[in-house]
Amino acid sequence: MSKPLSAYNAKRDFRQTAEPRGRRAAGTGNSFVVQKHAASRLHYDFRLELDGVLKSWAVAKGPSLVAGEKRLAVHVEDHPLDYGGFEGTIPKGQYGGGTVMLWDRGRWEPEGDPGKDYGKGRLTFRLDGEKLHGRWHLVRMRSRAGERNEQWLLIKSDDEWARAADEPDLLDEAPLSVATGRSLDEIAAGAGTGANVWQSNRAGPENAAAAPKPARARPERRPPAPARKAAPRKAARRARKAPAGR
Ligand code: MN
Repeated sequence: MSKPLSAYNAKRDFRQTAEPRGRRAAGTGNSFVVQKHAASRLHYDFRLELDGVLKSWAVAKGPSLVAGEKRLAVHVEDHPLDYGGFEGTIPKGQYGGGTVMLWDRGRWEPEGDPGKDYGKGRLTFRLDGEKLHGRWHLVRMRSRAGERNEQWLLIKSDDEWARAADEPDLLDEAPLSVATGRSLDEIAAGAGTGANVWQSNRAGPENAAAAPKPARARPERRPPAPARKAAPRKAARRARKAPAGR
């Protein structure tokens, strides 16, 4: 295996992009982050901290709360832990050029040995984020000839945080940044800060304007508090299902 994060660093010109340079961290933390990324195609980058880096998957359609619904998660290069604080724009023409939003963040808790399970291509874990919760699976699919990246599936397990297919889609319900409350358009326009936002503590000129001050308080557009969600919905769903005898 090559140097940690060498694939990440090789893809980026750090004179052109404000993304952090890749260095493996010593930490043994368990952060996760989901970054909504309006690049050539909108996708959601799902990242789990493991062994000092962020293991990363690009989920084209974003996570689904519908239990058992499979979302294609293309495995991409490890990202540095600092990346979990990145919200802002990547210049056009650079790798991943576009707008990056911190869509969710929190802690993940693996079931079993995460290093081994990652190697086996079968991770089961709980998420304790601001938007995503409960039990999830990431499962690697059998690789096919000519495939450049491993294809995995991100799947919600059936628990009190799961939703029925006819319930609102969390991606529509909670589209804004958990860090600044901004939309993708506002981030692209540099709204609220006059510059890209850095939530990390990395020093540097591009961070000067990025004081941890949230852009603007906009409570009316904030995603609903998690407490308001799952439990009643699940109960309602059970009630609806009951007559069908399931
Ligand atoms: Mn991406």
